[in-house]
Amino acid sequence: MTAGEGLLPVADRGAVRRAGVRLVRADGRAFAAALLLNALASAAGLAGPWLVGRIVDEVRAGHGTGAVDRLALGIVLCALAQLLLARWARYVGHRFGERTLARVREEYVERVLALPASVVERAGTGDLTARGTADVAAVGTTLRDVGPELLVNSVQAVFVLGAVFLLDPLLGAFGLVCLAPIQLALRWYLRRARDAYLAEGAATSRVAEIVAATAAGARTVEAFRLRERRTAASRNALAESRRTRLYTLRLRTVFFPAVEVTYTVPVVGVLLLGGWLHARGAVGVGAVVAAALYLRQFTEPLDQILIRVEQLQSSGASFARVEGLAQAPRGESGGGSAGPADDRIDVRGVRYAYERGGEVLRGVDLTVRPGERLAVVGPSGAGKTTLSRLLAGIDRPGSGTVTVGGVPVAELAPELLRRQVVLVTQEHHVFLGTVRDNLLIAEPAAGDAELWAALAAVDADGWVRDLPDGLDTRLGAGGRPTDGSQAQQLALARVVLADPHTLILDEATALLDPTTARHTERALAAVLHGRTVIAIAHRLHTAHDADRVAVMEDGLVTELGTHEELVAAGGAYAALWRTWHGEHGETGDTDQQSAYRT
Ligand code: ADP
Repeated sequence: MTAGEGLLPVADRGAVRRAGVRLVRADGRAFAAALLLNALASAAGLAGPWLVGRIVDEVRAGHGTGAVDRLALGIVLCALAQLLLARWARYVGHRFGERTLARVREEYVERVLALPASVVERAGTGDLTARGTADVAAVGTTLRDVGPELLVNSVQAVFVLGAVFLLDPLLGAFGLVCLAPIQLALRWYLRRARDAYLAEGAATSRVAEIVAATAAGARTVEAFRLRERRTAASRNALAESRRTRLYTLRLRTVFFPAVEVTYTVPVVGVLLLGGWLHARGAVGVGAVVAAALYLRQFTEPLDQILIRVEQLQSSGASFARVEGLAQAPRGESGGGSAGPADDRIDVRGVRYAYERGGEVLRGVDLTVRPGERLAVVGPSGAGKTTLSRLLAGIDRPGSGTVTVGGVPVAELAPELLRRQVVLVTQEHHVFLGTVRDNLLIAEPAAGDAELWAALAAVDADGWVRDLPDGLDTRLGAGGRPTDGSQAQQLALARVVLADPHTLILDEATALLDPTTARHTERALAAVLHGRTVIAIAHRLHTAHDADRVAVMEDGLVTELGTHEELVAAGGAYAALWRTWHGEHGETGDTDQQSAYRT
């Protein structure tokens, strides 16, 4: 089964295997050391039963107690050696696991950050969160505990079986045949387990997705009385999750008891065959005793392996989901031939529909010239914000293209995209970290001088200088709190640092108090200087000041031209302008007040 629609890809078996090999290779020496130590420990462990067999033979031969004592001492020493070697092997194994887990985590973060915004938007945060938490944790458990134990037990199992063969090939072969039922049970189980655990993981993602979405949109849910519907959706997701979990539980309840019973088969079989062979003088009693002891010993690592194989299955599914990110559509990275040729933004035949609801954009064509200031106006719900998201590469059009310099915007990797197009809204996030961390997001290579210059450009150098540790002051939860205008200044300083040639301004929530607004205007002016600006104008004076105005109505660009041309043409824009001008020109309305009206 693959992930549901909209979810991120899941790695197939081959990709998972290659990723596993790559991780082992990355820390190959530690892995080899763990393997060697385990082999030594297992070899030491094998001496015990063999020495017991020798004792039996010595006693039967009627030799003195001296030889028996020496053999017994040998057993003690071997057990001690095994203990120490096994502990050392585990230590090395766990260290390998921890380092590899760190690698998996780092890769995950890097891959998530490299995802184009449009992919993240489509996938939803639930899936990414589930993969980054539950799945990475499951992989972590495997690497930290399951992996090293599996290694210990596999090596032991191979050695034990090998020892029985060495004692007597016939007994060894027979013991192996007696293990066949376990193999059948294992095959039955494995054939179902991967898909079952993948389904379980996908169901978990869906629950996380729905809960996260409901929590994030709690106000909307309340306002539109969607409670019932959200509750029903949650209930369905939970029911699905429960169903998938019950199925994997059933697989386990069939598999483990079956295996438990079959453990005794090889021991009994070898004892019977050994007795028969001994009666014919084909083997010594010592060899039979040792073989039976080995096979009894064999059940222990086998049991551990089977328990771990089951964990390996579920964490293998998790790993497939974590590794699946590697197959997510990647951004066009720099260097390649596909970099944008110039700064021209082209919108061609763009149609777009949200997952629920009809078409919001119904064939938009628009060319924005480098350096131009274009205002997009129109009634609420016309699709202006949607267009701005497509222009900024946050989402990709259903059909048609949005390109910058000939390259689809949504396919640009983040580090390339922010050189081209940046969306500036009134929604700003201050990241947990220092002022410097908050700024370096936009330009990791920037030096302090550049950071200060960017802060000065948006009028923020003053308050940052007053902070106790300047650029190194921690912000956000647990650190120094920032107010709305500071958050906005930081966001704008990031834009200055990223230095994109095109800015998209969405003034949708420009409900700022006058002081903040004045600050913002000044900061914005610095940011906008010399850039191509596409302003989603909810206030008509923005349109008046722009080079060209595009009017959007019902998902289409219906008028396009300069303010004067459109007023002269006497269409929708002219009507809009007359109404607005009539209202605002005489009352001396401020921008802030007018923002409430549109
Ligand atoms: P504008 O910015 O011009 O007001 P929008 O682009 O915000 O227009 O919205 C256009 C249409 O798309 C509206 O009918 C709105 O209800 C719908 N819409 C906006 N966002 C979503 C969404 N996330 N899911 C579904 N429909 C949406």
